[in-house]
Amino acid sequence: MHLKQLKAYSINVLLQSCLNEDILRIGQIDFTRDFRVFHKDDAGRVDLQVYEGADAVREIVRYDDAGNYRPLKTAPNLRHNWELRLASVEELRLALDFFYPAALGHWLAWLRNAFHAIPLRQTLGRQSGMYRVAARITDVQAQDLIRNFCGQGCLRHIGWGIATSQELVLNPENREIPLLCPEACHLYISEARRVVKSNSSTQ
Ligand code: SF4
Repeated sequence: MHLKQLKAYSINVLLQSCLNEDILRIGQIDFTRDFRVFHKDDAGRVDLQVYEGADAVREIVRYDDAGNYRPLKTAPNLRHNWELRLASVEELRLALDFFYPAALGHWLAWLRNAFHAIPLRQTLGRQSGMYRVAARITDVQAQDLIRNFCGQGCLRHIGWGIATSQELVLNPENREIPLLCPEACHLYISEARRVVKSNSSTQ
């Protein structure tokens, strides 16, 4: 079954459909029909540290393998060596939301043709205080950030354009829950500010 054919009226129903259809991966994690979750690189290992309950995700996602804080939960640096055991689809949904905030909701909206991304210029125009200056980033610099900052450091598919929204096309053959980006995040805005500031310091 293609992802676009999944019909769901709620996130829990969508997630149950994923379990039924063996769509068992999101970002860097795999999950099983008996509600076990682990890093995709750790599949098959029996020496993993076991955690129980969705709340344990808060600890799992906090630091990478080197012990560095992870400010962006969709960065491709989720740590290894753990297995999370859960009791129900409801708890799995909660856990996935801690791993990848709002990802299931964004996907459900996309499946319903109701995923609305916000153009970058609109997001920048809303900034205040020290981030207001980020709006001075050029279109070329903004594209460079999309390519280098988002493209290298984040697993999300970008749905927004610089001046307008763009249609987000996903590969229907891909049997993973997608991570979608509906709006430039605060880390992108912070990077845009840094670029603008470094322009002015070199002029
Ligand atoms: S703007 Fe979106 S794609 Fe880029 S780093 Fe932030 S969340 Fe990821």
